[in-house]
Amino acid sequence: MKVEFYKHNLGQEDLEQVGRVIKSTFLTCGPVTAEFEEKFAQYLGVKYVVGVSNATAGLFLALRALGIGPDDEVITTPMTFIATPNAVLHAGAKPVFVDVEPKTGNLDASRIEAAITPKTKAILPVHLYGQMCDMKAIRRIADKHGLKVIEDAAHCVAGRRDGLGPGQAGDAAVFSFYATKELTSGEGGAVATNDEGVASTIRLLRSHGMDRAAAERYVGRFRHWDMVALGYNFTMFDIQAALLIKQLDRLADYHKTREQICERYEQGLSGMAGISWPSVAPNSRSARHLFTVWVPAKTRDELLDQLQEKGIGVAVNYRAVPLLKYYRERFGFSDNGFPVAEDIGKRTISLPLHCQLTDKEIGFVIDTLKDGLKTVLNRNTG
Ligand SMILES: *Cc1c(COP(=O)(O)O)cnc(C)c1O
Repeated sequence: MKVEFYKHNLGQEDLEQVGRVIKSTFLTCGPVTAEFEEKFAQYLGVKYVVGVSNATAGLFLALRALGIGPDDEVITTPMTFIATPNAVLHAGAKPVFVDVEPKTGNLDASRIEAAITPKTKAILPVHLYGQMCDMKAIRRIADKHGLKVIEDAAHCVAGRRDGLGPGQAGDAAVFSFYATKELTSGEGGAVATNDEGVASTIRLLRSHGMDRAAAERYVGRFRHWDMVALGYNFTMFDIQAALLIKQLDRLADYHKTREQICERYEQGLSGMAGISWPSVAPNSRSARHLFTVWVPAKTRDELLDQLQEKGIGVAVNYRAVPLLKYYRERFGFSDNGFPVAEDIGKRTISLPLHCQLTDKEIGFVIDTLKDGLKTVLNRNTG
């Protein structure tokens, strides 16, 4: 048996949307991107969405649009994909890591204030695995200290917490449509914001700093444009947007299926010694982007091997960022700086999670993991 880590849900309906773009003359960032942006803004309940080439570019543009640059510090989490702190570095600022909650792996809001210095300009929380951070607490701290909040919502479209969705409490929220995310166009991203100035700065910077977008230059007669800022080429384009438009209608069904799969995993694995998983915080609905389990550190890599030998796709989300070579060397991080995140990084395994997983496949993953863990633990103690 081969159990894929991820399978996308693109099909006929999406092909038709892509066909609509191919049959038109306009391929780059134009009317279909605008249609997606409006539809996604409505889904999120925010005023503006700007489509970008990927979430890494989106994080960078959001930081830039919020005025974060050289000499500034941005508080973020060590338990994330490297793109999060890398975007801060690309903006010329310094990521300041704050350790995470042991129960969820999310940035621990109660530790943020101790890390604030006169240079701190923003907080960049990540809604890890689809569980939203405590945005009410983070917003309160940010307002008290005059900081911006940028949500890395790459894992969290369908999540909610305390009546808030991603993008509703932050100054900006950044989404990813990378190949394995909840919504996917292979590559892609979007920034959501309620701030008109931030939205228009991101629109400007995503397209070279030109004061007229390609679509504007295309419809009607040629008109001269001017360059008013030093921008980038980070636009979403209409074929990407076409892939996303109908997925948004199917998202609620996807989410329901993901919930059911996670429930099956949790039932199947409960009571097994040596295994646990992040909990869903009170008043929350996790987007269920990833299902990760935590096993004893000494067994993790062997279990990764065993699962893969049986044909099960796995991943590690994530090893703590400060312990990666570049961060160690550039900032001098060493072991035990962020004990909770480092511990999760040594114990975590992400299991297959996608809407086409069958009951049989889920059962096989559960049994393989349980058998593997029993064998490794017995040998270690015996
Ligand atoms: C996937 C991911 C990103 C980067 O997304 P891209 O669209 O691939 O640039 C950023 N942050 C987190 C937490 C992610 O999982």
